[in-house]
Amino acid sequence: MAPDTTPAARDRGDADYTATDECAILDVISRWLEREVAPRVMQMEHDDVYPHELVEQMKEFGLFGATVSQRYGGLGLRASTYARIVALISEQWMSLTGIFNSHLMMAAIVEKHGTEEQREYWLPRFVTGEIRGGLALTEPDAGTDLQGIRTRATADGDSYRIDGTKTWISNGIEGGAVALLVKTDLDATPPRRGMSMFIAPKVDPDTGRRHPGFRTGRRLEKLGYHGIDSAELTFEDYTLDTRRHLVGGQPGRGFYMAVGGLELGRINVAARSVGIARRALDEAAAYAQTRKTFGKPIAEHQAIQLKLGEMATRTRAAELLTEDAARAYDAGERCDMEAGMAKYFASESAVANAMEAMRVHGGYGYSREYPVERLYREAPLMCIGEGTNEMQRIVIARQLIERNPV
Ligand SMILES: Cc1cc2nc3c(=O)[nH]c(=O)nc-3n(C[C@H](O)[C@H](O)[C@H](O)COP(=O)(O)OP(=O)(O)OC[C@H]3O[C@@H](n4cnc5c(N)ncnc54)[C@H](O)[C@@H]3O)c2cc1C
Repeated sequence: MAPDTTPAARDRGDADYTATDECAILDVISRWLEREVAPRVMQMEHDDVYPHELVEQMKEFGLFGATVSQRYGGLGLRASTYARIVALISEQWMSLTGIFNSHLMMAAIVEKHGTEEQREYWLPRFVTGEIRGGLALTEPDAGTDLQGIRTRATADGDSYRIDGTKTWISNGIEGGAVALLVKTDLDATPPRRGMSMFIAPKVDPDTGRRHPGFRTGRRLEKLGYHGIDSAELTFEDYTLDTRRHLVGGQPGRGFYMAVGGLELGRINVAARSVGIARRALDEAAAYAQTRKTFGKPIAEHQAIQLKLGEMATRTRAAELLTEDAARAYDAGERCDMEAGMAKYFASESAVANAMEAMRVHGGYGYSREYPVERLYREAPLMCIGEGTNEMQRIVIARQLIERNPV
């Protein structure tokens, strides 16, 4: 791959980033996955424990600043490189990517929309993982329909007082801050014009004092996506200074900040899905060559070959769609439809491949001793995050019409 010298790359300060760098990063991560993650993932996933030690190692690789510009201490990786890393890690354990992915989306909001003072304050703390976090958009009564959120921020001199509840927030317990979507004007029409984004820490980084108004609720129990915490967060009389915490310094832009990161967010989910689809294929192909029925490996039965053929084709198509969207993103081209297609197709491929891998394994696919039952539990989340696949198809169709008016 040629060095990226596009304007987008230059803006991010990573124009001299080369193919050799990319190979080196992927190589280091591959070896780490083999050495540290593969031997432990089954146990940790089943026990649903937060992987503290692996998180410390990910900090050392700079993964918490992977997509942040070098000028703020990040690695400044291109989306295409980042997507390859995410796919690689997801082959071993998709949950690990959730720990740094929504954190990086929080960082991207600050880098893209924050004031220079906010960037200089928050980003160096984010890239080291000193403060880790995620995105707090969803509420008990509003997920897809984000304009229906109720968390409210009321101006009070130089600060805002925030009250409300968020749910399903990844990294909500183990993280130290979230990018918090709120309403600052309840009467705005359309409602999105009255929404704002705050960087909301649990502890004031300067004083080390805990904000009493930021409360962490219970850790939500889930089908899969184990290891990483998903939590309910409650804000009551939670007061934040405007200059440091209201992203961009002005209210009213929060909705656009939330949806503005969706292209990259969808490429990320597509990459996670590619990892799951690929692992399911690898597990199925390997098992089919060793398991024998009626005197021959099941890989020689045509019914199994049909499955493997479909799984391999889906995986490759998902990889290509994801690469295509990431390439367009890196080139600064419009890629909302491409990212939506990649996310939609790759996530459905992950679900289909996980199911087929389970069938190829027969009864053993249902056993907790084989990785395919985990892939089967992880894959459906890919159809929900970053815009459900129902919405994805609607968005793709709308963009199709917009780009091809008659
Ligand atoms: C494990 C996990 C981790 C998560 N992490 C985070 C996080 O870190 N931060 C965060 O903010 N949120 C997070 N979420 C929340 C996630 O983003 C929402 O669940 C998602 O946006 C869907 O919202 P909902 O659950 O309220 O479903 P709803 O919006 O209630 O949708 C229900 C169903 O209706 C469909 N639907 C809704 N509107 C339409 C429409 N107009 N047309 C057609 N179909 C429609 C949906 O596709 C879906 O099938 C997480 C969720 C899970 C499960």
